[in-house]
Amino acid sequence: MKVTDHIQQAKGKTLFSFEILPPLKGQDIQSIFDNIDPLMEFNPPFVDVTYHREEYVYKELDNGLLKKQVVKKRPGTVGICAAIQNKYQVDAIPHILCGGFTKEDTENFLIDLDFLGIKNVMALRGDAVKSETYFRPEREGNKYAGELVSQIQQLNQGNYLDDELLNNAKTSFCIGVAGYPEKHMEAPSLDSDVYFLKQKIKNGANYIVTQMFFDNSKFFAFVEKCRSEGITVPIIPGLKPIATKKQLNVIPHRFHVDLPDDLIKEIIKCDNNKQVREVGVEWCINQSKELIKKNVPILHYYSMGKSDNIKSIAAQVF
Ligand code: FAD
Repeated sequence: MKVTDHIQQAKGKTLFSFEILPPLKGQDIQSIFDNIDPLMEFNPPFVDVTYHREEYVYKELDNGLLKKQVVKKRPGTVGICAAIQNKYQVDAIPHILCGGFTKEDTENFLIDLDFLGIKNVMALRGDAVKSETYFRPEREGNKYAGELVSQIQQLNQGNYLDDELLNNAKTSFCIGVAGYPEKHMEAPSLDSDVYFLKQKIKNGANYIVTQMFFDNSKFFAFVEKCRSEGITVPIIPGLKPIATKKQLNVIPHRFHVDLPDDLIKEIIKCDNNKQVREVGVEWCINQSKELIKKNVPILHYYSMGKSDNIKSIAAQVF
């Protein structure tokens, strides 16, 4: 079922959902099930599965020269989605990127998803590959998530890249896109970022999931801004509980979000990461409860491959 239908059916009740990462290459699918099993009691209508593009690594040869290798450390997004739908009978939402995909690759990827009965996709641009500073699209690829949304909508209309195809089956993907309450790191301003977010909606995106945030007032201000710009689709807050002291530096650096001083102070006081996890869970419970009071349609948790803290939060909130 489509995310927008899940929201409509919930009739104002806030739903629980979460996002998982494919395991590192070499692990089996049981590690995914071990991550999902403890969270199923909270009735998620869907589970998101992230997509991880290729990385370049340089290996030194015997003669001292470097050989460039392309590696994909976390393959399996589509297979995991199929396995989730099959095992748990809930919708699985694959993330799909512009990066690393030509438009032809994108079309073929979408055809696979459609054949598997997948009804939703999260359309993203993706980041630059790790060894590069700026995002570079494929020569025949989409440059921005907005272009990817347009391509998906074209397929929903039965318009394939090869306009000589006959019997063009229409897909019917419901499309999610990313929103950034504290603006995307490359955007010159929040105004400009919201302008392009609106373009993604105009191009056919059906809902927004936000980047993680730790200060609800930033989310509320973002929603207000989006609404005043005429964005009417559901906006789903993304939440992540802090779990280690190191994340005090990693999260702002990696995700370009601020941490509130009160949270920082509490974490600095902790003697070990067990205590940090408790602070992170408590903070996230409070965020969740306040967001529910404001009638958000869904609370979407970034599990990052660990579900015990998400379970502790969901047990208090749902
Ligand atoms: P876009 O919407 O294309 O925006 C990128 C930048 O370009 C922004 O600064 C925007 O303001 C600007 N912009 C947009 N359109 C235009 C235009 N037409 N002209 C000029 N400027 C424009 N990454 C992964 O690799 N895998 C994942 O599974 C994944 N999942 C994510 C899930 C969520 C909920 C979020 C919030 C992020 C996720 N990311 C993931 C990270 C995401 O790929 C990066 O944040 C990426 O840098 C931007 O992606 P986007 O879709 O927001 O890009």
